[in-house]
Amino acid sequence: MAIGSSCDVDVVIAGGGPAGSTTASFLRRHGRSVLVLEREQFPRFHIGESLLPCAGDIWDELGLKEEMHRRFIVKPAARFIHNESGAQFTYYFANAIRPDYPYAYEVQRDEFDHMLLERSRELGADVRYLSEVRDIDIQADGVRTEVQPSEGAPYEVRSQVFVDATGRDTLLGNRLGLKVADELVTTNAACFTHFRNCNRQTGSDEGNITIVLFDGGWWWFIPFKGDITSVGCVLQKHFSLAHRGASPEEMFNAALAVTPSMQDLLRGAVRIRPVGTTGNWSYRCRQFYGDRFLLVGDAAGFIDPLFSTGVLMAAYGGRYAAQAIDAALAASDFSANRFAEYQQQALQGADLFKKLVHEFYGESLRKLLVHSAAHPATCAVITSMLAGDVYRPALWQSVVRSGFSRDIPESGLPSRAERRGKPNDLT
Ligand SMILES: Cc1cc2nc3c(=O)[nH]c(=O)nc-3n(C[C@H](O)[C@H](O)[C@H](O)COP(=O)(O)OP(=O)(O)OC[C@H]3O[C@@H](n4cnc5c(N)ncnc54)[C@H](O)[C@@H]3O)c2cc1C
Repeated sequence: MAIGSSCDVDVVIAGGGPAGSTTASFLRRHGRSVLVLEREQFPRFHIGESLLPCAGDIWDELGLKEEMHRRFIVKPAARFIHNESGAQFTYYFANAIRPDYPYAYEVQRDEFDHMLLERSRELGADVRYLSEVRDIDIQADGVRTEVQPSEGAPYEVRSQVFVDATGRDTLLGNRLGLKVADELVTTNAACFTHFRNCNRQTGSDEGNITIVLFDGGWWWFIPFKGDITSVGCVLQKHFSLAHRGASPEEMFNAALAVTPSMQDLLRGAVRIRPVGTTGNWSYRCRQFYGDRFLLVGDAAGFIDPLFSTGVLMAAYGGRYAAQAIDAALAASDFSANRFAEYQQQALQGADLFKKLVHEFYGESLRKLLVHSAAHPATCAVITSMLAGDVYRPALWQSVVRSGFSRDIPESGLPSRAERRGKPNDLT
């Protein structure tokens, strides 16, 4: 029997992370029927806990504004510390060129992802946990998805469209050979855990993310509401190669041993989780769509997490994907070219972030991040990028596209002794 005439649901989504749940919620807003298949039982731990201000309009549109504010700590700024010199600079989102959202949130992803996916359910999506997508058969007249629940027999669902939101598992990207590694990024692994009683900033700065740059990579320090803080390091290839064979905990400790600035933040703190690790770094799929399918979020591409961009890209991707699918359903035309605009929209943001990350690993932005006080205009551009203002075109974005090299001070970084006690004065 032809599938198209007997679909169970308009859209099947594999994966219930931020990409899958926002796609589902926006599709429900368009009145489309959606089934979300998530392999795990939520809430579940996930890495990627610092959000960006410009995702605020997505949370508002999904009716989550008050709930976000009630559940999570406010993040008004991103502070960068250079370990070897002690130089530091804090970027306050209120100083962005378009400061529509002057703060973001730090979130424990078990709670955050669960909240988003349950919102999809409230909006009418059929959400099934412990349901792994095993196989997809894309045919001219519809898609058959094979589902393996954690208990019971496998079953098949028929839909008009399939969305791969399986995150870094990249279900379709792997199967179709679409994934291309980003060789310009020089990091390749991360180690992470949670601590209690860290030495946080105080007052309204308590929720700031701190990024500590050191010679082997960089650290994140993400304070949650309450007394738990997420701490992790992203390692340069030369550092992880030099410690090949080390356990995640040994690797974490080796990085900590060479980062006094991070030791200061952790003095007296107690680790409350085993050290986790992940590798298989930056990549992008050559195409984010085909006949009857779209890739959204990390399933489409992953950029080194230096600027905390993943959830923003997943959420915007979900909104754009839902628009494209809705239009395809309205036209009863699911051919690949209907989804080309979705990829263009998703790449507006991803390309800017990728450029920023390349500038950092090419060293020029690394210096500028802690020299910003000397460059007010560049500082405003960086603040806007750190806020995630990448989906509405703006003239200043051309500064990012053309690179920052011109703005780098000749003198290099000041010494640790020179900088001590002068947080934002780097002129
Ligand atoms: C070290 C590190 C630090 C990061 N830090 C940040 C940060 O601070 N801020 C930020 O915004 N982003 C950060 N990120 C990125 C962020 O984690 C991701 O971009 C984000 O989670 C992407 O959402 P997603 O929905 O695409 O994928 P995910 O959140 O990974 O969700 C995918 C879901 O699909 C499910 N799934 C997989 N396969 C199947 C299957 N076959 N069937 C059914 N379900 C399946 C999984 O169980 C999972 O729940 C970081 C990433 C890393 C690696």
